[in-house]
Amino acid sequence: MSDATKIMLDESEMPTQWYNIVPDLPEPPPPPLHPGTKQPVGPEDLAPLFPMALIMQEVSTDSYVDIPGEVLDVYRLWRPTPLYRARRLEKSLDTPARIYYKYEGVSPAGSHKPNTAVPQAFYNAREGIRKLTTETGAGQWGSALAFASALFGLECEVWQVAASFDQKPYRKSMMETWGASVHSSPSMLTAAGRAILEQDPNSPGSLGIAISEAVEAAVQDPTIRYALGSVLNHVLLHQTIIGEETIRQFEKIGESPDVIVACTGGGSNFSGLSFPFLREKMAGKINPTIRAIEPAACPSFTKGVYAYDYGDTAGMTPLMKMHTLGHDFIPDPIHAGGLRYHGMSPLLSHIYELGLIEATAIGQVECFESAIRFARTEGIIPAPEPTHAIAAAIREAEACKESGEEKVILTAVCGHGHFDLASYDKFLAGEITDYDYPEGKVAEALAHLPEV
Ligand SMILES: *Cc1c(COP(=O)(O)O)cnc(C)c1O
Repeated sequence: MSDATKIMLDESEMPTQWYNIVPDLPEPPPPPLHPGTKQPVGPEDLAPLFPMALIMQEVSTDSYVDIPGEVLDVYRLWRPTPLYRARRLEKSLDTPARIYYKYEGVSPAGSHKPNTAVPQAFYNAREGIRKLTTETGAGQWGSALAFASALFGLECEVWQVAASFDQKPYRKSMMETWGASVHSSPSMLTAAGRAILEQDPNSPGSLGIAISEAVEAAVQDPTIRYALGSVLNHVLLHQTIIGEETIRQFEKIGESPDVIVACTGGGSNFSGLSFPFLREKMAGKINPTIRAIEPAACPSFTKGVYAYDYGDTAGMTPLMKMHTLGHDFIPDPIHAGGLRYHGMSPLLSHIYELGLIEATAIGQVECFESAIRFARTEGIIPAPEPTHAIAAAIREAEACKESGEEKVILTAVCGHGHFDLASYDKFLAGEITDYDYPEGKVAEALAHLPEV
């Protein structure tokens, strides 16, 4: 066994292709439907939103897609990213398990999101687009897209969920430093935003509302396109560089994971880490348990329904078959742990329905406790989202202590928490409580699912 703590790849060992899991699945995922006709959407339906190169990736049946040289050049600013063995965390847990984490916080924006923001900006710029619009919740995606837009000479306009706009002013500073313009959502700038503000002038906003605003702004101008930071197939595709690197890093030290746990909001970092391992599992070469970890306050896998729903609140996006809490579900602002989207990636939802992955929901108190233990042993202060993954890894390691099993646990610390310290302040002041699954709110939102 290797005694490495930080397992690195050389630049020359960086993967040069993304992995598309779709052709390896026993059944293809159900198609997205046009919100008007309820017929499967064609490439031309998506053309007002995305550049053709990304639309073709969205429906691709090729197993591998070459990463353009211009994108590889930008990836090299921070990739390959390190895989760490969490030796001090293991010691503090007194576990025989070996815990590894792939760390994506080394990117300029501080998370895994630039892995897709960079190719999205690249393809849009190549097709002559002038400006990108998007939404952001915690601010990670908006800053990743602002960074990528700057590198490829695009303008960038971001609608940031009001609750986070107020609580995380430095994410806005970051986006503006990279040249983006940022609005609090709901805003008066769009019909979707005005409609929400009319009903509730103090609306805390939601990702679903911010998506409606960004989509509305994009479809009105042929020189503008929209960019989404999670959920869609092309986003998951771009994120597979995480897992492809991790496979090579494990090869270097002769290890292979028994359990893979990662957090899910829309599913992109989880899929990025796990799909290459799932390929090996489906080929019968390895047999790890692969588990998605979601917040108890926004549990789309474990409490949502698998149904066609809109990706946004106003109902402008195609209908996607996915695990959903209902497109007008708004998580309570008390919930500080991120991962607040009402839906889940349709591709990942399909894979869950096929029984290829598992899911567990964890409450935010356990997540923050795990984050504190992690910070005080491994040093890194994780973003609130990956604290879910860390809590699950700790649960696994504690079970190994009971059973004496020497499992290899792999997780993803997909971002650092340097802009989320207000949440840590709250936790340290004892102000973070478990906010249970809002049964009534979900039932109400699910009553509004579109008929298909
Ligand atoms: C956006 C984000 C998430 C949630 O999105 P996924 O698509 O599920 O990965 C999780 N962690 C961090 C750090 C993020 O920025």
